[in-house]
Amino acid sequence: MALFTRTLPRVYHLSHRNIASLAALPETHQMLQKTCRDFADAELKPHAAKHDREHLYPKEQIKKMGELGLMAIAAPEEYGGTGLDYLAYSIALEEISRGCASAGVIMSVNNSLYIGPILQWGTKEQKEKWIKPFTNGQKVGCFALSEPGNGSDAGAASTTAKLEGNHFIINGTKQWITSAFESEAGVVFATTDKALKHKGISAIIIPKPVEGLELGKKEDKLGIRASSTCALMFDNCKVPKENILGELGFGFKIAMICLDAGRIGIASQALGIAQASLEVAVDYASKRLSFGKPLIKLQTIQNKLAEMALRLESARLLTWRAAWLKDNHKPYTKEAAMAKLAASEAATFLSHQCIQILGGMGYVSDMPAERHYRDARITEIYEGTSEIQRLVIAGNLIKEFGL
Ligand SMILES: Cc1cc2nc3c(=O)[nH]c(=O)nc-3n(C[C@H](O)[C@H](O)[C@H](O)COP(=O)(O)OP(=O)(O)OC[C@H]3O[C@@H](n4cnc5c(N)ncnc54)[C@H](O)[C@@H]3O)c2cc1C
Repeated sequence: MALFTRTLPRVYHLSHRNIASLAALPETHQMLQKTCRDFADAELKPHAAKHDREHLYPKEQIKKMGELGLMAIAAPEEYGGTGLDYLAYSIALEEISRGCASAGVIMSVNNSLYIGPILQWGTKEQKEKWIKPFTNGQKVGCFALSEPGNGSDAGAASTTAKLEGNHFIINGTKQWITSAFESEAGVVFATTDKALKHKGISAIIIPKPVEGLELGKKEDKLGIRASSTCALMFDNCKVPKENILGELGFGFKIAMICLDAGRIGIASQALGIAQASLEVAVDYASKRLSFGKPLIKLQTIQNKLAEMALRLESARLLTWRAAWLKDNHKPYTKEAAMAKLAASEAATFLSHQCIQILGGMGYVSDMPAERHYRDARITEIYEGTSEIQRLVIAGNLIKEFGL
């Protein structure tokens, strides 16, 4: 069982920044939130600026997150996971991302996109081998769907996996892969039958390092700079046939289902960035004097703060709703897209307004506002851009109207 359930006292006072409904959540979720918030304040926030500036992977922090049970929250205990639900995952990921958005994305990919599909489609042997060692923060996994030639149009994958005897021979390049540098395994999508187009894509678990797989350069990114993003270049890479996840040709479906869950993760990451921006803005506005009084007494500033809080809390409710639907085995594709869209646009808005409220101090790296602004931007791009989320929402809406 994860550390937080053993070591925390039973009663907590919820901080002023939680929405009231948090108090109605089960005690486990409240304890988890408090544990993650304290961890983020003590272990993530103090290092986030340096890790960002120097592109440093937060290795020690990820290990500690593993010890807290945060790297495999929804995996059952028999596979080394924490055995909690997606609402717990969302709450924890928001708090972690509030401290460091890079740690947030590393956690999100390991939970939703690496462990998630193996848990759902893996055999017992695959779960033992590919989940257990990836739960405690010592090892992380990655998810490789995007390619240089196709991101939004993921069904057009050109990486191939040819079955030869008892092995797949993989050729092609996967692009923009989070944690590619540090990961010791990945769920990789490759075409096993080109004629079938997206129905010919399969998901294969690839160990790392492995002969025939090279990494591209670490991308020099605008934000989430403490996480690595690289290409995976396969050149006749030989992987045992038994590493297929689910059935041949089921890969695209696996990717789409995983991305629904992953979007709850990215929405939560965005909430953390937005929450951090709000806190920086309120703190600064309460201390900075202008025309003889604190900024926070000015109605223009109050209007900004009100709009920020409104967008943040609306997005949080959408995110929790999507998580609740998933936990209750209800359809949640549209709701996850809404959550991701609302939360990512909220993060961009809040971090933008935060800089505005700080004025010149918002523009320099002495304060975390500019990092939040840079970190927020990616949440509108990965795991489906905002444009793609709108397409998903509209597609589901049209179906609901029977059209
Ligand atoms: C830092 C980072 C980390 C990432 N991590 C991963 C990872 O771990 N694994 C992985 O597989 N991928 C990852 N990605 C890839 C990411 O998911 C893609 O970048 C994203 O899906 C967009 O694809 P694209 O970059 O090819 O843009 P494109 O698909 O070329 O889109 C360009 C623009 O056109 C718009 N557009 C495209 N098609 C449509 C349409 N039909 N209707 C309306 N507008 C459209 C898009 O919204 C966007 O604005 C990562 C990317 C980054 C930058």
